[in-house]
Amino acid sequence: MKFRRVFNRAAFGLLSMTAVLFSTPERALAAELRAVASFSILGDLVRQVGGSRVMVETLIGPDADVHAFSPTPADAGKLADAQIVVINGLGLEGWIERLVKASKTRAPVVVATAGVTTIADADDHAGHGHDHGSAIDPHAWQNVANVKIYVDNIRVGLARAAPEDAAYFADNAARYTAALDALDRDVRAAIEALPPERRKVITTHNAFGYFAKAYGMAFIAPQGVSSDTEPSARQVGAIIRQIRRENVPAVFLENMSDSRLIARIAKEGGAKIGGTVFSDALSPADGPAATYTAMMRHNVREFVDALAPPR
Ligand code: ZN
Repeated sequence: MKFRRVFNRAAFGLLSMTAVLFSTPERALAAELRAVASFSILGDLVRQVGGSRVMVETLIGPDADVHAFSPTPADAGKLADAQIVVINGLGLEGWIERLVKASKTRAPVVVATAGVTTIADADDHAGHGHDHGSAIDPHAWQNVANVKIYVDNIRVGLARAAPEDAAYFADNAARYTAALDALDRDVRAAIEALPPERRKVITTHNAFGYFAKAYGMAFIAPQGVSSDTEPSARQVGAIIRQIRRENVPAVFLENMSDSRLIARIAKEGGAKIGGTVFSDALSPADGPAATYTAMMRHNVREFVDALAPPR
């Protein structure tokens, strides 16, 4: 852990031991619970519930691909120092068991999705370089109602690890759950305000199954296009035909950077090109999706901007 390393180095230096003890952050943080969350979205949820009593580290930070992660010895070190570990479960962190074993951590592992009603993974998943290694779709956080379950599991886990702060965690969880209720209402209202025939996008993200089911929007995978590689001109032709055939108002192709091909899709398909949406990771702190609620509000704004009928 960072602070402990700083402390040790100082203690071996010329500073007096007493001065160090009373001046290092280690001292101030001594009473905080050290939590490790597997990825950025979960890290935010643990922070919301843990407040000032919990110090949260994440293994997979903002803007990082949760599916392409492979743990390092430093990650094992984080777990070794943790007093509680929070994971999504549903096969998202296929590496967690081995990492826990390697780290020799004694921290309890809280599965945030325990009790969530799951849905099956999209059929086309495996073919899109986004294979989750299980038949269950792990992206349960894309339905706000599920995140209330995450929050309750986190609250219970934190209260077990630090019973003296149980009431504080419960207060935070209640306040945050009210914010989630408001978010859920807003998302629902925003999508419902769209004409039903316009509630569909083509996207290379296949992470929105729970969102689709909860809020009544269709996410159509582009046929014959991998989410890993940029579509070729020939594949763009197929996307354009698909847009016309299925009357899709908007396309979110976050792995496309060739502006000429994007312009061709917009012109020939007659579809709007959507902005950036976040599915599996938050943005950095200065970005548009620095927290879970900011992420959901940002995504819905992008969907509505692209799908609202032209005036
Ligand atoms: Zn994913």
